[in-house]
Amino acid sequence: MLSVHTSPLHQPGTGDAGGMNVYIVELSKRLAELGVEVEVFTRTTSSDLPPTVELAPGVLVRHVTAGPYEGLVKEDLSAQLCAFTHGVLRTEAGHRPGHYDLVHSHYWLSGQVGWLAADRWGVPLVHTMHTMAKVKNAALAEGDTPEPAARVIGETQVVDAADRLIANTADEAQELAQHYGAGPDQLAVVHPGVNLEVFRPAGPRDQGRGSPADEAAVRAARDAARDRLGLPAGATVLLFAGRIQPLKAPDVLLRAVAVLLERDPTLRERLVVPVVGGPSGTGLARPESLHKLAAQLGIGDIVRFHPPVGQAELVQWYRAATALVMPSHSESFGLVALEAQACGTPVVAAAVGGLPVAVRHGVTGFLVDGHDPHDWARTLQRFLDDPGLGDRLGPAAARHAARFGWGASAAATAEVYADAMGRPGSDAARVPSRLRRASAR
Ligand code: UDP
Repeated sequence: MLSVHTSPLHQPGTGDAGGMNVYIVELSKRLAELGVEVEVFTRTTSSDLPPTVELAPGVLVRHVTAGPYEGLVKEDLSAQLCAFTHGVLRTEAGHRPGHYDLVHSHYWLSGQVGWLAADRWGVPLVHTMHTMAKVKNAALAEGDTPEPAARVIGETQVVDAADRLIANTADEAQELAQHYGAGPDQLAVVHPGVNLEVFRPAGPRDQGRGSPADEAAVRAARDAARDRLGLPAGATVLLFAGRIQPLKAPDVLLRAVAVLLERDPTLRERLVVPVVGGPSGTGLARPESLHKLAAQLGIGDIVRFHPPVGQAELVQWYRAATALVMPSHSESFGLVALEAQACGTPVVAAAVGGLPVAVRHGVTGFLVDGHDPHDWARTLQRFLDDPGLGDRLGPAAARHAARFGWGASAAATAEVYADAMGRPGSDAARVPSRLRRASAR
């Protein structure tokens, strides 16, 4: 696997580390359990990193020196792709020929490296976009900076070179076809997953997943989590978790909360909005802007900012919340939606990208069209009017999320690999896609 711009060893929730890091870690571990050995190449970002780190049995992270360790942002990395590719090719050259059976690249920068490596080694290239410039640009927040044309060109080249493109959802596959000309023979849909061992309602393992004591168990877990986090027991807690950037639209949540308070100022006593995560992407240019917005809206006392936390603590935040709120403008899937639901917490999400797959409207949470704070306030008001709503949706949310284990994602991904490599006896075996497509014409 190639993960040029961010390491599976980084803490997600800020900067360049987010869902893709979690995706690579979880997928690799489950692939290894299925007998697919994985090596993940990533860029060295600190002088004290060893050349290799065993992430889990069968999963090795390889650090490649490409440019200075610190001070480079993702946007600078296209200038380091040659150095990175050099490191990858040199590593392979140290092994017997045929060491790697397949290249799986993540995000377009890695796709550029994968394109060359797969061609050089005569193995298939499987690529996952994670996000696409054209899709992001079509749904930008007001005033946000569009992705550059160079990225669109780079993405188009990768789509052209890839034997298989793994999309998170059928909609993403459609976008790959529509915006980048991906062919049906290239496309495979594999839903990402959630670590159901980590993200689960508190209590015995079966609770929250259909037992009659579900509602009481979810309530008890919430009270315990609030106690640990210092949140008031009786409050309505509307949680935002993830990278703080205009695309994720935490500002819409804040504006909606301001609308709620305008209507009913007494809510100030019983409403808390934690924002867990750090600045990222175009949000890095003005990291204080969300704090400023909270102050401008007069809700600085309600919004509580927290730096990103590890998964074990994030579980507590999910359990403590009445609902997780995701007003994103664009979201290729939205892992936090699955994670919160797996903890028995309903989700209020924008009806974009993978979120309509992750959230079942009216059953495990609510989907909201558009980004008008008044529409968001109307949906959030439901949790205030009916304090038992979250308790009722929670168990259904946990059951829905339980269908998205990473084991299933890994098994489906392994199928895509097998298919790309050509099944035994198939004459498609080991013929690069472009040759295969050319000979089929
Ligand atoms: N995350 C985390 N700590 C935090 C906030 C987020 O570990 O404080 C993780 C979260 O568990 C999730 C990922 O960051 O797996 C965010 O993934 P998502 O798909 O929601 O968004 P992306 O970052 O890919 O845009």
